[in-house]
Amino acid sequence: MSLTLERAAMDTAMTELHFRTQAFIDGQFVDALSGKSFATENPATGKVLAQIAECDGADVDRAVHAARQAFENGHWSTLKPSDRKKALLRFADLLEANAAELALLDSLEAGKPISDCLTIDIPETIHCIRWHAELIDKLYDRIAPTGPENLGLIVREPIGVVGAVIPWNFPAQMAAWKIGPALAAGNSVVLKPAEQTSLSALRMAEWAAEAGVPAGVFNVVPGFGETAGQAIGRHRDIDMVAFTGSTEVGRLFLRYSADSNLKRVILECGGKSPQIVMADTAELDKVAEYATNAAFWNMGENCSCGSRLIVHQSVKDPLLEKIIRLGKTWKVGDPLDPETRLGALIEKGHLEKVLGYVAAGQAAGAKLVLGGQRCLEDTGGYFIEPTVFDGVANSMRIAREEIFGPVLCVIPFATEEEAVSLANDTPYGLAASLYTRDVNAAHRIARALRAGTVSVNCYSEGDMTTPFGGFKESGFAGRDKSISAHEQYTELKTIWMQLS
Ligand code: NAD
Repeated sequence: MSLTLERAAMDTAMTELHFRTQAFIDGQFVDALSGKSFATENPATGKVLAQIAECDGADVDRAVHAARQAFENGHWSTLKPSDRKKALLRFADLLEANAAELALLDSLEAGKPISDCLTIDIPETIHCIRWHAELIDKLYDRIAPTGPENLGLIVREPIGVVGAVIPWNFPAQMAAWKIGPALAAGNSVVLKPAEQTSLSALRMAEWAAEAGVPAGVFNVVPGFGETAGQAIGRHRDIDMVAFTGSTEVGRLFLRYSADSNLKRVILECGGKSPQIVMADTAELDKVAEYATNAAFWNMGENCSCGSRLIVHQSVKDPLLEKIIRLGKTWKVGDPLDPETRLGALIEKGHLEKVLGYVAAGQAAGAKLVLGGQRCLEDTGGYFIEPTVFDGVANSMRIAREEIFGPVLCVIPFATEEEAVSLANDTPYGLAASLYTRDVNAAHRIARALRAGTVSVNCYSEGDMTTPFGGFKESGFAGRDKSISAHEQYTELKTIWMQLS
């Protein structure tokens, strides 16, 4: 599924845009109890888009109370699976009917190219809700192989109240990856969007309610990490936190849990993903396209960004030449222009951080062969050129730390062993790509790579049927997408019966 939105239709949609700026708690839009609000900005212009309710611990408390009550009254948690499915399918239909608006909200608030929002983010968001809805009445529990005098039922039950804390890089999609399986499993959810991007989650909550998700089952508390986010992490009546964001903040959620009620925590964190190109790789043109996309898609603000190109020395120069040529065709500009492939970085501080890495790369002796400059400064937005460094050593900061910008590091190798060792020489382990014509090498290397997703002869995160998450410091205890995601929002219970 992919949507199209002509410029004229987009202009109309813009005039009809409906910003929801209050928190959504217990089925109502409400101000923060403190009365405070904060500004959300359009990173492509630097201008304020709206003032959003600034929730803190008191609002989180209120939302958790509503979520708990909704869970206990069973209107959702014990609803007949086929009826829960119907409500979530209606929710997906409403998302689809309002897809252009959702795409615009994400594009405006996150600086993402509208074409990506229309062809990737929003279709994936809708698909995720629909996929998890469809699963609800197709899963069976189990009976243990006991003797005839016993009956051992192994059943899955919803966990209870789930706190979801998400990042800004795929606002609607990250919300869907959490609420899709969590709601499908019968939980109540308190979602905190990233402070940079609250608008799509707030509208999604409204459509969920319209679709028949009962009051209190899906709450949205916009606000800052240290206040609202921490309050979710430390809340004693939240049973589980599903977090996506940086490894640094992910660590905090483990501490919050240990210091409070040992709530279950799943973490989806950062990455520094390798792309290995073996000497026998055919069709360098295709590889160049994948590699460029892996590095620059979503402005490199992508957890599985293929930021390290580990390429055999014999094909490095021709491949690099193609990547540079392609990189020059990536249009940087107004995210609402359908031709734009690179929109704005999320905020000024982040642009400065990325430019700081470019300077660090140069200072360390890496060779800047493409981009590296801020551009379109007169728009007031935070744009940067697609950037490539050649001659990078894996020990350099630009090869070790997550830059979260469109910066590709090219690292040559001589042997397969060296390629695998370079790829695995990182604290992260989210994704990896591998290009080779040798089927045996493909299996051997895919198994040797310490990453949650390895794509072979393409750059991909799989689809909704495959789990997504990280090894090492890229993740902890869980996966998004697939049946694995659904199961992690459930508790496993044994019911042991003595038969007479
Ligand atoms: P971040 O860690 O700064 O923020 C993520 C969320 O945590 C936000 O909602 C934020 O408000 C909240 N937060 C911040 N400080 C907090 C605190 N002290 N206590 C509680 N909550 C706090 O990450 P970001 O900058 O929004 O997103 C970028 C990061 O997300 C990157 O590292 C990227 O790799 C990662 N990411 C991972 C995946 C994945 O699936 N593994 C997907 C997307 C993004």
